[in-house]
Amino acid sequence: MSACVDPVVGKILAGWRYDISGIAPEMRGDYERHFSACDYCRSRQRLHRAIDLSLIVLASVSAGMFLLAFGVIHHFEPRHTLILELVALGGFALSALIWLVVAVATPAPITMVDIALLGARHVHDRLPPEIREKLPEELRMKLTGS
Ligand SMILES: [Zn+2]
Repeated sequence: MSACVDPVVGKILAGWRYDISGIAPEMRGDYERHFSACDYCRSRQRLHRAIDLSLIVLASVSAGMFLLAFGVIHHFEPRHTLILELVALGGFALSALIWLVVAVATPAPITMVDIALLGARHVHDRLPPEIREKLPEELRMKLTGS
């Protein structure tokens, strides 16, 4: 792995966690050019988006586990049911909070929309033409960009 080709720009990008999705499109040009020219920043960008995504996934799984635990405790009613239920609910609330913070503070939702769009486009391309023709014009535009 080589170093950044333009440390000044690289430093700005690092401060943004390599996320330029919040910048107005007409101001993005320089940074997009840097990403296409700089292997180092591109790989850092991928790494940070992977971290965001795994945080979201982890928080979702953890929230699900706490909810499941709550259901199990509620169902079997062991000793100290109330305390255990409160602990499970607290864990769920904390996971939901982490999820929310990650969703608000990072471009993970945008990345997920991108992934979903990519998946939808993949499905769309495999559809038989007669079904593809029946899709609403608006949806087709979104998927194919044409
Ligand atoms: Zn760079």
